[in-house]
Amino acid sequence: MSRSIEICTKPLKSKVRRTILKAGGTLLISVLAPLSARAAQIVAVRVWPAEDYTRVTLENDSELKTTHFLVQNPDRMVVDIEGIELNPTLKELVAKIQPNDPYIKQVRVGQNRPNVVRLVFDLKEEVKPQVFTLDPVGGYQHRLVFDLYPANPPDPIAAMIEKGEWPSANPGEVAPPVAQTKPPEPKPPLQAQPEPPPPQIARVDPKPDKTPTPTLTRMITIALDPGHGGEDPGATGRGGNREKDVVLSIAKRLKAKIEQQPNMRVMLTRDADYFVPLGVRVQKARKVQADLFVSIHADAFVTPTARGSSVFALSEKGASSTAARWLANKENSADLIGGINIQSHDRQLASVLLDLSTTAQINDSMKLASAVLNEIGGINKLHKGAVEQAGFAVLKAPDIPSILIETAFISNPEEEARLTDNAYQDQMADAVLKGIKKYFAHNPPLARNRLT
Ligand SMILES: [Zn+2]
Repeated sequence: MSRSIEICTKPLKSKVRRTILKAGGTLLISVLAPLSARAAQIVAVRVWPAEDYTRVTLENDSELKTTHFLVQNPDRMVVDIEGIELNPTLKELVAKIQPNDPYIKQVRVGQNRPNVVRLVFDLKEEVKPQVFTLDPVGGYQHRLVFDLYPANPPDPIAAMIEKGEWPSANPGEVAPPVAQTKPPEPKPPLQAQPEPPPPQIARVDPKPDKTPTPTLTRMITIALDPGHGGEDPGATGRGGNREKDVVLSIAKRLKAKIEQQPNMRVMLTRDADYFVPLGVRVQKARKVQADLFVSIHADAFVTPTARGSSVFALSEKGASSTAARWLANKENSADLIGGINIQSHDRQLASVLLDLSTTAQINDSMKLASAVLNEIGGINKLHKGAVEQAGFAVLKAPDIPSILIETAFISNPEEEARLTDNAYQDQMADAVLKGIKKYFAHNPPLARNRLT
């Protein structure tokens, strides 16, 4: 643009100047056209603060190039973004940082030099950032993502003990020392196992008498997994309610009910509105040596009449129906929508998990799924009368019985209303807990036998 102005202001005779001005006008257009195609516009900024990590997303109409570096004393991250001009949308980022953000104190935004915008994140502690771009997907255009992970992440169990959320085997005992309740030992590296050992928890058959009274030798640990979160809203109902919100609400109710049980404790894979990659959900459950993994979702379909609750288990041989396969594909696309850094090693671990046998896990998962489906049938219409199976990525922990519950169809206006109703959420939580208890009544967990 500046070049064409130079041409126009050259001292020339009037006739010639007119010609040049015309040419300048043409030049202006021809220079601006490719420029406007290249200069990115920030169309939205989003911030997802969480204890796990804080994510900042810049959504743009084209892919952005960035460089970033960390500075200490005080800790900050400096990001230079090429090919953009500072616009009001980008300036909104400053106000979007909340005072209680675990990692970001504030952000400063400025035009560093022509065509380069600089963001300075003033940090509350040292972070390990992951900076990556995502191609357009779903309703999103290009995204530039900053995930700020703590450089020294807290041990998940120690953190729960600190919050008083991790009771020991003896209910009378108060806050036990960390070492006692920590998983006895990290699992051996998965690759080192020559043959997949029977991956399930050692159990005895139910006692032959009519009223089995299982003797629990330890706390039962339940991993609850509210689906989606953050950048990934999941399905959205006609009334505007989002799957990620209703499933978190149901999961929190269920968590509270599980905590009332003398021999159970619970871990949420997410307790706020941020995205947790599918593989990380599985990792989190394995880290606390969960006895069960229960993923909570809300179904959606193109026609508003589809309705009813469903419970799914993993399948090794293929889906039990076309609809189940379709649903698994939809749920598995969460990582694309939610956005993961494919260069990070979460993915590698996830693929290692896939290679292990899950036959025994699936057997147990089917029993758990039937017990839960049976209870849910008492509070809502069932979409199908039986447990279905498909290749859900989040159900692939080889050593934890895992189920995925579609609590109702959020795309059905009547069921959307139920999903947001406190009483229904409570009934759903009660039904799932009842199912879990019935499962354990017939499949009591014994002492851990996992250090094989
Ligand atoms: Zn879902």
